Amino acid sequence: MKPSAEGFMDAKAMEFPCDTCGAVLHSTVGEARRSSTLECPNGHPIEHDAEELDASIRRAEQRVGNIMSRFTF
Ligand SMILES: [Zn+2]
Repeated sequence: MKPSAEGFMDAKAMEFPCDTCGAVLHSTVGEARRSSTLECPNGHPIEHDAEELDASIRRAEQRVGNIMSRFTF
């Protein structure tokens, strides 16, 4: 079986400060990469680039996957 790092970042916590009220939304990488519009704790929309985040996470997953494939567990 080929080792895969897919999804290893999804549980990582991410913080999104709200531009409108300054409240900080605590979310996860997995949630943020699937949703382009998040809401702050007070209900304001927080826009972020889910596609760009998803692309950069995929690159990180690939790098980790390549490293993992050099080791036998
Ligand atoms: Zn807000």
